[in-house]
Amino acid sequence: MATERKLHTIIIGAGTTGLLVAQGLKKANLPYSLYEYETDTSYQTRPREWGMTLHWGSEHVSNCLPPELVARLSETYADTSIDPTSVTGLPIYNGKTGERIMVMGAANPCRVSRKKLRNLFKEGLDVSYGKELVSVSIERVEGEEGEKVVAGFKDGSKAVGDVLVGCDGARSTARECIVGEEAAALTEVPLTMFNFTTRFPAGLAEEVRGLSPLFVSAIHPDHGSMFWTSIQDVPSSDPSTWLFQVLLSWTHDPLLKDLRSYEDRMAFFKQRSATYAEPWRSLGAAVPDDTKLPMDPGTLWDKASKWDNRNGRLTLCGDAAHPMTPHRGQGLNNALQDASNFVAALIAAASAKSPLADAVDAYDKEVLARGTTEMQISYKQSMFIHSWETLMQSPMVKLGMHQAKKDEGGAERGAEEGEAK
Ligand SMILES: Cc1cc2nc3c(=O)[nH]c(=O)nc-3n(C[C@H](O)[C@H](O)[C@H](O)COP(=O)(O)OP(=O)(O)OC[C@H]3O[C@@H](n4cnc5c(N)ncnc54)[C@H](O)[C@@H]3O)c2cc1C
Repeated sequence: MATERKLHTIIIGAGTTGLLVAQGLKKANLPYSLYEYETDTSYQTRPREWGMTLHWGSEHVSNCLPPELVARLSETYADTSIDPTSVTGLPIYNGKTGERIMVMGAANPCRVSRKKLRNLFKEGLDVSYGKELVSVSIERVEGEEGEKVVAGFKDGSKAVGDVLVGCDGARSTARECIVGEEAAALTEVPLTMFNFTTRFPAGLAEEVRGLSPLFVSAIHPDHGSMFWTSIQDVPSSDPSTWLFQVLLSWTHDPLLKDLRSYEDRMAFFKQRSATYAEPWRSLGAAVPDDTKLPMDPGTLWDKASKWDNRNGRLTLCGDAAHPMTPHRGQGLNNALQDASNFVAALIAAASAKSPLADAVDAYDKEVLARGTTEMQISYKQSMFIHSWETLMQSPMVKLGMHQAKKDEGGAERGAEEGEAK
């Protein structure tokens, strides 16, 4: 593609978002440098991995990835043998009785592994590992024309470019550098999650995948908790080797501060799962006692508002722009659209179709509006799904998993379980 200005983009974070941005810039023949906090070893071995449902966002992938990688997208599926067009809905059960309540609509959903997706999107890219962003400035740099963006890393090194895009996830340092620590702060909502992976005995593994090959949710009416299982990896046809993602989430007590030790967390997990109908009761009992359950509060960027992009030089993409609670499965799907839109903005600026400031302004405006809408809908979803009374009014029941429109966000925010604190 012919371009007139070789704008150099500094990408912070080699998660799915940063990698897709890099692929898109590379495809457009625009220069980039990609910096990742993890080392090349810890990037592959980090303990927290999970699966994500890829649905409407998949249409944005081909704008950035080269065709030979698009053709290999199925390699990132949790179960590579499943054809996404064969799955038309995702079931939700009454966790107390085992009765199926509904089947949530979704457009050809496929369950992708976060790790496999990163490894595919990484192919052919240069990633600088072990680079933790700590500062961002715009300044004159010796030997360079005009002002430049300078990213500072913890190891004392620096990167110089024309544009910086923060793709560094929910707890983004780039966001802090752009809007300040206070304005960048996440808001914790009254929601807590155990999110981990485990294997089950063969019979149970087959039973739960018999309910749905991708994922199954069970909501318990008595204590408003959700027990979710989804397939994470299928290394062989032997069901005892299948890896599952388990998410137990609930609103209000107990909070992180109440379950500090792994023993207390496991005791709570076992006690909660024992109140569920089969197969969830047996699934809970089968989780090995020595599993270390990570515990996370739900968060969102409630203070999100227009950021000063300094004439188009600083912006955000993916979870850095719109961290959200996970119960509507939208974070990745929005991140893919962000990456595609950001690359389109840079192509427009580089080809002099649009000044950089205008192109990034338009990008920012759209991502902020879409991200804010979805953060509020996902928050509402997370709260409503845990209360039996509001479950049927939840965005999931009304919208399924489709992409939200602007006026669908946030109307009843805080009406049920209280405002975010
Ligand atoms: C339990 C759970 C289930 C989910 N399910 C779904 C789903 O079904 N569908 C869906 O669409 N979404 C889902 N999501 C959301 C999805 O995981 C995220 O939206 C997506 O992974 C965001 O990718 P990202 O690249 O923006 O951020 P990340 O994947 O967090 O990547 C950020 C990268 O930046 C690096 N980094 C961080 N700080 C720095 C720094 N200072 N300097 C340099 N590098 C840095 C990190 O090491 C990391 O590699 C789920 C999330 C959770 C928690």
